Amino acid sequence: MSFQSMVHRLNPKHYPRDYRVATIVEGRETTIDDRRIHIAANSTTAVLQTQPGGTGTPWVPAAPAASVTQAQMVQFVRFIEDGSFTPGSYRDVIYNAQWRAFYNVAARALQYIDPSNTPTIKPAVDSVPCFDCELVLPTRNITIDHQRPQEGNPVEATCKLFRALGLTKGDPDGPKGDGVRNVHMGNVGGVAGRANAPLRKKYTLNNVGQIYFTIADWGGFVDSGDLDKACLHHVVNLRPLCNACNTSNRNVAHYA
Ligand SMILES: [Zn+2]
Repeated sequence: MSFQSMVHRLNPKHYPRDYRVATIVEGRETTIDDRRIHIAANSTTAVLQTQPGGTGTPWVPAAPAASVTQAQMVQFVRFIEDGSFTPGSYRDVIYNAQWRAFYNVAARALQYIDPSNTPTIKPAVDSVPCFDCELVLPTRNITIDHQRPQEGNPVEATCKLFRALGLTKGDPDGPKGDGVRNVHMGNVGGVAGRANAPLRKKYTLNNVGQIYFTIADWGGFVDSGDLDKACLHHVVNLRPLCNACNTSNRNVAHYA
């Protein structure tokens, strides 16, 4: 799945373009009539505008001001495409360098017991601790859990990815979200939100997030479900769990 057409939306044209804002508020997709994304003629920057006086009155920059350059859009698309897997390939996240570093994947010499009850140390193999109970398993024995569930509200995983980039009103609470933010938020023009925010803030896009989501919507990636799928099977949403800890009822939808 290529999201490159989001970058091409910011190619300079001789005419201006306007897109009505599509966004996520409290975990639900919606549109906002008195907000638009404006790209001026010959510009490669998308600017969020509002119409405080109502229909027919002038459009003005939103407050706080928010814009996305084509260079930032390139970074956003790269972040999604480089870190996302398909439903059939997401186990390959165990080869992703950022994921390996965060979850402490390493070659370890593990102890085995042979039939005569003699402990043996076998040659080191790629191994990873379960994120919950910390049992170390060879990577081929670990299961990969989707933190935001595969069933339920599909925008949960999308909000999680946007949150990790500083594109929601509430900040990530977990160390992985923080780690991603420290590396990537600046590249996409994200902004720090509220720490320890209530859930509805974590599932609501901020002004910059509205620009990215709107352009994804106009590219068809929201209606097709491709954006949600890419976020569901993304490094940000995948973690290692042992079989016992990875039970189907542990993921609870926050917003139905
Ligand atoms: Zn476990």
